Amino acid sequence: MRYIFITGGVVSSLGKGILAASLGKLLQARGYRVTIQKFDPYLNVDPGTLNPYEHGEVFVTHDGAETDMDLGHYERFLGIQTTRDHNVTTGKIYQTIIERERQGEYLGKTVQVIPHVTDEIKRRFTLLGQKDPYDIIITELGGTVGDIESLPYIEAARQLHYELGPLRVLFVHLTLIVYLEATRELKTKPTQHSVRELQRTGVQPDVLVCRTQQPLPKALRAKIALHTNVPKEAVIQALDVPTIYQVPFQLRKEKLDEVVLRRFRLPYRGEPDLTQWQIFIERLQNPQQSVRIALVGKYVELHDAYKSIHEALIQAGGWHATRVEIEWINSGDLTSENIERRLKGVQGILVAPGFGERGFTGKLLAVEYARVRHVPFLGICLGMQIAVVEFARNVLNWKEAHTTEIDPHTLYPVIDLMEEQRKVTEKGGTMRLGAYPCEIRRGTLAWKIYQKSPIYERHRHRYELNNRYVPALEEAGLIVSGRYKEKDLAEIIELRGHPFFIGVQFHPEFQSRVEAPHPLFEAFIAAALRYHPD
Ligand code: GLN
Repeated sequence: MRYIFITGGVVSSLGKGILAASLGKLLQARGYRVTIQKFDPYLNVDPGTLNPYEHGEVFVTHDGAETDMDLGHYERFLGIQTTRDHNVTTGKIYQTIIERERQGEYLGKTVQVIPHVTDEIKRRFTLLGQKDPYDIIITELGGTVGDIESLPYIEAARQLHYELGPLRVLFVHLTLIVYLEATRELKTKPTQHSVRELQRTGVQPDVLVCRTQQPLPKALRAKIALHTNVPKEAVIQALDVPTIYQVPFQLRKEKLDEVVLRRFRLPYRGEPDLTQWQIFIERLQNPQQSVRIALVGKYVELHDAYKSIHEALIQAGGWHATRVEIEWINSGDLTSENIERRLKGVQGILVAPGFGERGFTGKLLAVEYARVRHVPFLGICLGMQIAVVEFARNVLNWKEAHTTEIDPHTLYPVIDLMEEQRKVTEKGGTMRLGAYPCEIRRGTLAWKIYQKSPIYERHRHRYELNNRYVPALEEAGLIVSGRYKEKDLAEIIELRGHPFFIGVQFHPEFQSRVEAPHPLFEAFIAAALRYHPD
């Protein structure tokens, strides 16, 4: 088992997640068993309770953990499934230690950052390998080198390197080469400083990956190498590219995978097999057509809040050689006066997941627009719930129909709290989370899309379609086409007589892969391509 640690320097948001996923992909494509985990230095036990503005999307794993959105990149790039053990936070580390302390496991001892916190971090670094026989475990360390809160992680990684030796532990440092527009110069000083900072903690990076706007000349690479003690061939350039899907190819060209394997004394095993990926990227970059999709949500200013949905749309479009033009529509801005103008010309409407009241009316209007005009519609989680409310209000004429999340006293609680949620008071990790089987009714749109039953999709919600109203809804043309048998929960709804109107209580976006787009998103894009707005 080998370990690769990825640290970041100079600034945040350089794309450590994409780097980890791309390196992982290259090694996997050479036949190595690879997985990737993320360690985050904040004190929340998980990001589940964070506002998307703080931290982007919350990614849900198959086993029901609420995790960092970088895990989405790992899954999409490698086609793997991550687990609750793939994302560790400082909150989780301290929680474990404090629980142990209370149980008396450290009896008589002072509990300290070193060795107790670092030991627990090391235990977590190596945990995945104890369950599955990976060849290489990549660990992305969140934060930027020099942050106080990252120190215990770097120290623990240093210790692991000391204990296992350089043939088994390797450090990749992602850094930024600054380009000065005025003098048209590339500047390496911030990189030198960030490597120094790392060295001060006892870690010598083995590989530097340099984000840069302009190609790095050889002389500059030599200069960086000289100042940082990193071999010249391990100073890798990561030039800005138009799409993240090019990054694996770009790093391949720079021989990042070979540098890593050589350093581990592992065989190259021939060229990495990226055939499928290649086909995808060729179609993505040579689109034959384009399609306009409205993404209606309340966090649209921050695209990261809908990362997986965005990627699922791009991936489905890419495979159709279609450029997906996303119109980011803030549901809070939609009114009955402007909706016509705002949605004019879109070929598909996706109403996003969400929580709470803000933006509800705008989403309701968007659903109505899609239903009445036969625009292809995909409602995800809250988007599905609002589709039910809209139908109850405007088709069944139950004007007060609502979800009890917003109006607990509504006369028609068509969306209501799940029975098992009624006694829940704690917020963290208590929703219906993770994958559940869904039985699909034959002869429905859902069946046409999935062509099998049951399917497994991931959840993250507390409310559900109230079964009491299903007979009336079905009578009026809203079909429940997917159900979770065991608890008798409605998972998929669609509309009789509408070319493509589907709402799902789960989050299909978490299972879209670069090499295998999600059938629901594919079908949505295909339907949008068939739709011609007047
Ligand atoms: N707020 C809704 C619920 O809890 C929907 C959640 C979501 O869209 N992820 O049921």
